[in-house]
Amino acid sequence: MGKHEIYIDMDGVCVDFIRDALLVQGYDPEETLIRWKAEQPGQLFPTEVIPKDPENFFTFEALDNKEFWMNLKPYDWFEELYSELTKLGSVLFLSAPTGSPACMSGKHQWLINRFGPDFSNFIFTRHKDRLAHSRAILIDDMPFNVSSFQDRGGNAILFPRIWNKLHMIEDPKNYILSAVKNLMSS
Ligand SMILES: [Mg+2]
Repeated sequence: MGKHEIYIDMDGVCVDFIRDALLVQGYDPEETLIRWKAEQPGQLFPTEVIPKDPENFFTFEALDNKEFWMNLKPYDWFEELYSELTKLGSVLFLSAPTGSPACMSGKHQWLINRFGPDFSNFIFTRHKDRLAHSRAILIDDMPFNVSSFQDRGGNAILFPRIWNKLHMIEDPKNYILSAVKNLMSS
């Protein structure tokens, strides 16, 4: 059998989207994330902590900007997570663009800035589940992406974040690497 195909989500897994999304909308990221974790752990969007319609939050005009996306900070576990995953399987970044072309362009630039202009190990689509098959493994922080991928016969692992049910896990990188290894050996 060939290598497993590993699809790794970008926002919330590799890059700290929420931090900058909060910052450009006038919220203090540290304070907001602490309250989110304490008051509404596991909530996809903490309406008590951020009194805003989630729809408006995620379509805020400052997000319609290439610089926003290309300058997102990688999480401190990103490099090790990525390099360990590449030892385990064939890795592609799998990221859903917003409705703004600037988003896709900025995400592409983010990857090129790290991996060079010929880098092509990525797929931008909102239809992640279309890539599901029995040797595919999706790593994603959104429960709906995990479940739709599994529904189509793929393997998917939820990446622990305060906005999903794995909010109590403190070390997401090691959790994910063990989960991937377990899956491959089962
Ligand atoms: Mg994500």
